[in-house]
Amino acid sequence: MKVNHVISYALLAAFCLTSCKNEPQVKNVIYLIGDGMGFGAVTSLLLTEDEPTGFEQAPVIGLHETCSADNYVTDSAAGGTALATGTRTNNGYVGADPEGNQLTSVLRKAQTYGMKTGIVVNTTLTEATPASFYAGVTSRKMVYDIAKQFTESEVDVAIGGGLGHFFGRPDSLDLTATLIEKGYEVYLNWESVLNTESDKFVGILPLYDLHRREKNHGRASAAEGQEVCLAAQMAAINEDVDATHLSEPTVYLEKATAKALEVLSRDNKEGFFLMIESAIIDGYGHNNDGEGMVIEMKEFNCTLRKMIEYVDTHPETLLVVTADHETGGTGVYYNGHKPANEGPLRLKFSTSGHTGTVVPVFAYGAGAENFAGVMKNTDIPKKIDALICR
Ligand SMILES: [Zn+2]
Repeated sequence: MKVNHVISYALLAAFCLTSCKNEPQVKNVIYLIGDGMGFGAVTSLLLTEDEPTGFEQAPVIGLHETCSADNYVTDSAAGGTALATGTRTNNGYVGADPEGNQLTSVLRKAQTYGMKTGIVVNTTLTEATPASFYAGVTSRKMVYDIAKQFTESEVDVAIGGGLGHFFGRPDSLDLTATLIEKGYEVYLNWESVLNTESDKFVGILPLYDLHRREKNHGRASAAEGQEVCLAAQMAAINEDVDATHLSEPTVYLEKATAKALEVLSRDNKEGFFLMIESAIIDGYGHNNDGEGMVIEMKEFNCTLRKMIEYVDTHPETLLVVTADHETGGTGVYYNGHKPANEGPLRLKFSTSGHTGTVVPVFAYGAGAENFAGVMKNTDIPKKIDALICR
């Protein structure tokens, strides 16, 4: 028995030595997650884009099984937790295991290695996917607790929405003030985010700017409208705050990501870990809106191509692109007898929910070869950690 213990410790030591060298193999990590971006979504882009897409430039492609701990079909909370922490949990749980214990994400690990960290999303900063990287709660609905945990996350750069979770809260706490006390610049409009020279800032932009689509005729939803009002309310009491909006629709994610990369790359010997979520693909899947899904995938592709340009000029960078799950059971529908290039693409959906179908993984740059083949969702953060640990 005693001998067995000695052997297992020796094996453990050998594992640590081989999996974590003193010199990390990868300096920077960009982890791009398309929420609900299954094969149907990717295909809808490939068939409607004349230019080669960013997906076609991937030298390495894999597949991952998206299951949660309690279901074949994951939600974005358990899916995000698996992709962030390497542990499967119950649907609805964010950054916590099925017993409710907080897990350590690969973003947190990157911080312990001295890397800078960033989060860019086109949804609220407190939404399940980004929250899986810094929070630990047993329900994705605990957005006010998640926002508090965000203020303790020590993430260097964050850009997203969700002002109502930071200001005008039911408990009256002003977490924008908490962030400022902790040394952050806090910006509520695009111009400030795009023009900042700060190395540590949080951009909490109205969702209206993040989601706006021409097909909505520029109208905001009720929740988006409420955020615009909150920003205006803050502007009224603080002359440094202005409530101007993004002038050009459908450029948000690409520009916000480029800004985060610029800031995280600045004077940075230890490298960075940047997670980006394109959240709205999931919404179009839920709504069975094929036209919207194609528009969203085109925006995703613009962001992806910018990321690939970055990796090409910074070869010590790893870019991993994947989804937390598939949404909509999306397929390309039989479109009569027309040749492939005639007539609009028709997508057919089999559900308004998520499916448990495997999703693709695309990898570029340093260490990309590790992401080939069939894996579990939980393998991805473990592989990333093995490449950056020191
Ligand atoms: Zn969903």
